[in-house]
Amino acid sequence: TATKKTHRITLIPGDGIGPEVSGAVVKILEAAGAATGVAFDWHPYDAGANAFEKTGEYIPKVLYDSIEKNRVALKGPVTTPVGGGFASINVTLRKKFELFANFRPVKNLPGLKTKYPGLDLVIVRENMEDLYAGLEHEVVPGVVQALKIITEKGSTRIAKFAFDYARKHGRKKIHAIHKANIMKLSDGLFLRCCQTVAKEFPEIAYHEHIVDNTCMQLVMNPYQYDILLTENLYGDILSDLCSAFVGGLGLVPGANLGTECAIFEAVHGSAPDIAGKDLANPTALLQSAVLMLHHIDEPATAERVQAGLEQVYREGKTLTKDVGGTSGTKAFADAVVAAMEAPA
Ligand code: NAD
Repeated sequence: TATKKTHRITLIPGDGIGPEVSGAVVKILEAAGAATGVAFDWHPYDAGANAFEKTGEYIPKVLYDSIEKNRVALKGPVTTPVGGGFASINVTLRKKFELFANFRPVKNLPGLKTKYPGLDLVIVRENMEDLYAGLEHEVVPGVVQALKIITEKGSTRIAKFAFDYARKHGRKKIHAIHKANIMKLSDGLFLRCCQTVAKEFPEIAYHEHIVDNTCMQLVMNPYQYDILLTENLYGDILSDLCSAFVGGLGLVPGANLGTECAIFEAVHGSAPDIAGKDLANPTALLQSAVLMLHHIDEPATAERVQAGLEQVYREGKTLTKDVGGTSGTKAFADAVVAAMEAPA
């Protein structure tokens, strides 16, 4: 075979179901790479509670250095303590590497029966500002303030990202999602930035919907949307809602994108309720890896993985429990490898 191109990739297996789904994804990518002349040099690191136990740091310096050097990471979910404890590893990494855009395509897989067949929409979520800035303090006992940070720079940057993406990929419509009737200054600024950017893209229809109405509109008729352009928190909530349209959190991938580095991870969390039981669906992280393969300019490997994945769904014989099947994580991964090697 020809000399292989080797990609160095930082791997964060993560917590809960993280090691199971990332193990499955690595196995599938290795098989796809072997057939398409692409090799992966994985650089695995702990983050969060596991890392703290071993190194005394939640995000070890070696992990930061690795992402900075490799510029690409594949990340499993990391558990974040509720109501105290350490700051979210996910949010910290997004801030550290200025991964300002969270890109989440919501699309049906073939053969999987859902209430909304043929859906194809994209969520573009601002990834660094808003209430996620985590700026909270106790004003006086019994009164706490959380600061919602919205900037002209951040809003313009994410709007530009969404419109550029739409232009490049022939998308027709963008809805900016807001609550500017109540948050007049913050969401008002976000909207004004979106409007200004929209003027540079006359071929793309621009609309504004209030977030609560958007939830109802989405459930009534998600087909009316093409790209949802959102601040950080609304985008977080709408992502989980939209995942349900195409079969749930086991399916929907994501990319955290900046100008220097990129971290690819599923929308879902560490799913402690099913961790360690060979029940998790690796599809969401696998589709995140497909986004990563396109990002590192390996389209043939990406297409091989996606085709294998879609074949397994079309056949419907080796699916995980969350999408109505009876197979485990490992059997599913083996089925994708087999489908890539013997396409229908
Ligand atoms: P979750 O996404 O982990 O789970 C929600 C539900 O979806 C659970 O019933 C779970 O079993 C199911 N589910 C999720 N992924 C699945 C998969 N791949 N296959 C099958 N079923 C799946 O949300 P949660 O329980 O609210 O959060 C758990 C932890 O994950 C929290 O600590 C949270 O902070 C963290 N989290 C991390 C990230 C991230 O790393 N980017 C994102 C979201 C949540």
